Amino acid sequence: MSTSVKFDRSMIAPCGMNCGTCIAYLRDKNKCCGCCPDSGFKPNHCAQCRIKNCDLLEKTTSKFCYDCEKFPCQRLKQLDKRYRTKYKTSFIQNLLTIKETGITNFLAFESKRRTCPNCGSIVSVHRDNCQTCNYELN
Ligand code: SF4
Ligand code: SF4
Ligand SMILES: [Zn+2]
Repeated sequence: MSTSVKFDRSMIAPCGMNCGTCIAYLRDKNKCCGCCPDSGFKPNHCAQCRIKNCDLLEKTTSKFCYDCEKFPCQRLKQLDKRYRTKYKTSFIQNLLTIKETGITNFLAFESKRRTCPNCGSIVSVHRDNCQTCNYELN
């Protein structure tokens, strides 16, 4: 199945999370608008996120944590560890990929790895199976 790019820059949070793959973004009810947009519904833990609201982030050119003098700070390392352990995804690696290969390449990479090989739907980073066809990913 061919894969087209399904995400855009506005979906990628400063920490390296692809909000386009978040279960809160993909659901129909109480859908989150994603980290980057300033208006729209977000759950409290993301509306009050200490990374998104970090003073040092504001000073960066790219608005990604990789541009920060403290990268990777303790806060980011903790989040990275949680996602590596629970969801087999490293935000620090995501950020380094964006820094080294560019956002367009990263979006294409994300589209490839988050597309269900069976039905072509987006598979959430928070799930091991496709929510549309139930295909199990390894
Ligand atoms: S809940 Fe948080 S991580 Fe998920 S889409 Fe919203 S801002 Fe992004
Ligand atoms: S890496 Fe820098 S910009 Fe990102 S949360 Fe840490 S201190 Fe803030
Ligand atoms: Zn599927």
